[in-house]
Amino acid sequence: MGTRKINANRIVVKVGTSSLIHPNGAINLETFDQLAYTLSALNNQGKELILVSSGAMGVGLNKMHLKQRPAEIGAQQALSAIGQSELMTLFTQRFDHYLTDIAQVLLTHDIFDYPKSNKFVMDTFNCLLKDNVVPVVNENDTVATDELDHRTTFGDNDQLSAIVASHMNADLLIVLSDIDGFYDQNPKKFTDAHLISEVSNVADDEFTVAGGSGSRFGTGGMHTKLLAAQRMLAEDRQMVLANGKDPQIIFDILAGKPVGTLFSKECVNHE
Ligand code: ADP
Repeated sequence: MGTRKINANRIVVKVGTSSLIHPNGAINLETFDQLAYTLSALNNQGKELILVSSGAMGVGLNKMHLKQRPAEIGAQQALSAIGQSELMTLFTQRFDHYLTDIAQVLLTHDIFDYPKSNKFVMDTFNCLLKDNVVPVVNENDTVATDELDHRTTFGDNDQLSAIVASHMNADLLIVLSDIDGFYDQNPKKFTDAHLISEVSNVADDEFTVAGGSGSRFGTGGMHTKLLAAQRMLAEDRQMVLANGKDPQIIFDILAGKPVGTLFSKECVNHE
């Protein structure tokens, strides 16, 4: 298979809880470290990077020695607030090691809908990127319950990352998950599922084979990732869904190697 044509300078990377937290609830230190290493290396090369990270709840559960999330939304928000500061501590430590500055940006999905807040948010991102600082974005769970209360279909970090990519005019959105890409059926349920390497259109057929989350800590499952891909395709941006167990896969993605699933209008292999 040939290489893909990936031209990306401004890149949004979204990492899911399932990549940051082991199935036993412990912190996946390797992912934190390799993510910091990879993004720092790319930052040094002059790429503009925005990290959207889930995981506040998972880190909060770990910190409070809890096995499962509490039922009440308020208690979930409290746990998420505990986890968010711990999450940033973990990122700050690892990014510091690679001499890269980061900043916390907490957003709600609708923030871009209000012209004034939209401008403030964009100004903040632009200042950070100009200073080579990597913004680390998460949903502000204290004021937004979209991601926590997943009875609502709108709202989660997959779509938040697409909203950020869209407003910040990013060339590429990389979604790192606990799965190698988008399959023709849920691979956690069907052993004969096949990985789809390239997708140029996301329609009903794709949503039909997208199931929910496969891990204890994952949230949106494949459905919200497809919604993010749909938005990227509509705006002629690219998205790659790939396995986050080794974040250095981002180097392969940018080199055009056929890893994960590429969502792109121009889905042809370039030899
Ligand atoms: P994350 O925490 O990384 O966002 P999620 O658990 O929310 O991850 O979503 C990834 C999961 O989606 C996979 O582990 C898998 O179980 C599930 N899934 C459902 N349908 C599909 C599909 N067609 N292809 C790939 N994964 C799928």
